[in-house]
Amino acid sequence: MEDLRAKVALGCRILALEDQGDFVWGHVSTRDPGGNGVWMKASTLGFEEIQPENVILVGWDGDVLEGDGRRHAEWPIHTELMRTRPDVASVVHTHAPWAVAFASTEQPLRPVSHEATLFVPPDVARFTKTGDLILTRELGGDVAGAVGERNAAFMVHHGIVTCGADVVTAVMTAVLLERACRTNIRALAAGGPRTWSSDEEALAKREHCYPPQLLRQAWDYLARRVDAR
Ligand SMILES: [Zn+2]
Repeated sequence: MEDLRAKVALGCRILALEDQGDFVWGHVSTRDPGGNGVWMKASTLGFEEIQPENVILVGWDGDVLEGDGRRHAEWPIHTELMRTRPDVASVVHTHAPWAVAFASTEQPLRPVSHEATLFVPPDVARFTKTGDLILTRELGGDVAGAVGERNAAFMVHHGIVTCGADVVTAVMTAVLLERACRTNIRALAAGGPRTWSSDEEALAKREHCYPPQLLRQAWDYLARRVDAR
């Protein structure tokens, strides 16, 4: 269990390094191996402040079952996505600034560099029912519905949600989605983009650039940079 709490905490600090913090908002979680809910970042702290003891067990109904700290109001994003996706063991929700700005343009995400090929084709899923906070299990279920079988969705006017089979995958998926949006905005600001990978090339690059072992290498590199701070 301590390993998982340490993983969630490191994931939070990596997201801080990648400028995805929004004061004390945004969260990372992982599924409790005992089936009792999700271990997630406690509220009132920024991503860069999170240590293993700031990761608490939140039950399927939102009760804090273990650990010290307050629960985030948007806990249903995590519980409902994991409830509907047995293959998902980690969820990230941030107010990623480039992604929020990009989603508001309603432009399709183009694979103009490596990063977007983790998502496209098809275009990134979008949750548009509300830009407000996800405060109920029903809304959490709606977010899970928007994600479907995908690894991410834009929460338009709000942020992003990403998921994966482990914390490394969910966090690196959030990192890459934000970087893909930043690159797309830069291209749009320069009057483009006018060229990008075909679907075929993008799908090949997804396999070549982002298999689990390479995501892990990128995570390890970011973890070293967190340590060096
Ligand atoms: Zn939020």
